[in-house]
Amino acid sequence: MAFSQHVWQQLKATTADELISALKKDGYKEDPASADATIAFIKPGDPPKRIVIHYHPRKTYGPKLLRHLLADIGWNEEEMRHLGLITGHTASESRSPTHLVRCHCDQGLMEDGKPCPDCGGTSFREVAAAEPAQ
Ligand SMILES: [Zn+2]
Repeated sequence: MAFSQHVWQQLKATTADELISALKKDGYKEDPASADATIAFIKPGDPPKRIVIHYHPRKTYGPKLLRHLLADIGWNEEEMRHLGLITGHTASESRSPTHLVRCHCDQGLMEDGKPCPDCGGTSFREVAAAEPAQ
């Protein structure tokens, strides 16, 4: 599934917790048989839908894994907006160009293990393209 740039900009910072909360809003229930770091979610239906995610508290997913997960789940942009994964920007909305610079933090985490507030745990910060890269 291809996402437009502005959608992906928001999605790539999705943490495991946010993804789980979106799954639950969408009617998924945690499979009680789930193992520690691998949780299965089941959405009743005909046929029921089953999604298995790897859970790391407060961590974001790598782009490849996240795309794969989202393709499995099959949400479209409208649904992801409704579930709070992305906000209401539309593709036609003009957006000033930005680029990513490496954040001052180490791997997106602060010393106390919390996600870095400057980059949201991604270890990259978005700056206006006019701003010189660090
Ligand atoms: Zn940071």
